[in-house]
Amino acid sequence: AKRNANEPEFMQAVKEVAETVIPFIEENKKYQNKMLLERMVEPERVIMFRVTWIDDAGKTQVNRGYRIQMNSAIGPYKGGIRFHPSVNLSILKFLAFEQTFKNSLTTLPMGGGKGGADFDPKGKSDNEIMKFCQSFMTELSKHIGADTDVPAGDIGVGGREVGYMFGQYKRLRNEFTGVLTGKGITFGGSLIRPEATGYGDVYFAQSMLATKGDSFTGKTVVVSGSGNVAQYATQKATQLGGKVVTMSDSSGYIYDADGIDAEKLAYIMEIKNVNYGRISDYITKYPNATFVAGKRPWEVKCDVALPCATQNELNEEEAKTLVANGCICVAEGANMPSTPEAMHVFQNAKILFAPGKASNAGGVATSGLEMSQNSLRLSWTSEEVDERLKGIMANIHAACVKYGKDSTGYIDYVKGANIAGFVKVADAMLAQGIV
Ligand code: NDP
Repeated sequence: AKRNANEPEFMQAVKEVAETVIPFIEENKKYQNKMLLERMVEPERVIMFRVTWIDDAGKTQVNRGYRIQMNSAIGPYKGGIRFHPSVNLSILKFLAFEQTFKNSLTTLPMGGGKGGADFDPKGKSDNEIMKFCQSFMTELSKHIGADTDVPAGDIGVGGREVGYMFGQYKRLRNEFTGVLTGKGITFGGSLIRPEATGYGDVYFAQSMLATKGDSFTGKTVVVSGSGNVAQYATQKATQLGGKVVTMSDSSGYIYDADGIDAEKLAYIMEIKNVNYGRISDYITKYPNATFVAGKRPWEVKCDVALPCATQNELNEEEAKTLVANGCICVAEGANMPSTPEAMHVFQNAKILFAPGKASNAGGVATSGLEMSQNSLRLSWTSEEVDERLKGIMANIHAACVKYGKDSTGYIDYVKGANIAGFVKVADAMLAQGIV
């Protein structure tokens, strides 16, 4: 703990895992005396580097780039790249640590990693984004590869940025390989990858509801965020018969009592993915909706909540409000959106609660499928990928039930996901010796 004392997000993520995994280790002799958890919290490698680029005004800019290569026991490092001004070592280590468990849960051979830069893409021109991505990849290319480390997108890194980074990697290495996932369909991307995290989150919530004999039909759903994960979670929840009444960004949330249907969602996608604009623009086209500035959507009454924006975006008070308003299911689309206190509120109320490492694993799982397709040099159909995604989410749900269900029938998805994720990585580490 001392070594990481100034890394609050990382400490938060480790504490959550330790609380459930340490008792499990104490009950299972096989995992004792090998410092397994101690080894897992120490990244195999951390790379930090200068990223310099020239903006449109001709001014030289300097950012800091990172890649955390956390754990390669079960496969090449795998995890997204985040471009956001808040990016620092603590946030990326928390994400890389969570990623190790998540990737293990998918059952695919992927280790854990994460990277990014403190670069703010907001307000940057397309040319500036390309310049930044090229400079970032110029250094990163020395440390990654299809069999070593395979990054993907995350906050601030979507299809456009992955494309620019892939182009630069190819130019530098003279290799066309599956070194990044989330690529465009014309150059090795997988169908359904853009949809996968949001869809997977909703498939997982569907399995959770099914344990109570329930479904999305007729449910009021509150979604936070309006980026990649939020958009496709909204789409799938709507397709399954739910009514999504909110979406948000860092400036506030929109509330649409009639529900954000397919046509309205298409408008949000235009605002966010084409114009790189603000969620508040929604009310200019749909004046019946309201925009609530500077607030988060958890005060809105709902049956199901899908937090899909960022870490620590749902606190204890907000969790209490959700429970008091009758929310029965929270499935995290983002990574660690609920604070530890919020998580305890959901668990004490015994409502269905899934941590991101289980419920948002559909994205990286489909990235794993993209890697397989690249290696085979072929492309599967949307239906084929979607079927595999559904199967993987169902398996993750089953693993959570296996390790998380108590004698009263309550399913602790946090415990279930942590132990199931731990077992596979720990077994591989034991077999590979003290390295
Ligand atoms: P995007 O960049 O597409 O969208 C992020 C959304 O969250 C935007 O609406 C953004 O608003 C909002 N947001 C970001 N930072 C903050 C903040 N500090 N406060 C309030 N709102 C914020 O990212 P993704 O949709 O890809 O990622 C969302 C979450 O899902 C992250 O936690 C990510 O790690 C996680 N995730 C993503 C996966 C993927 O496949 N993309 C896979 C698994 C997890 P604004 O535009 O105002 O910044």
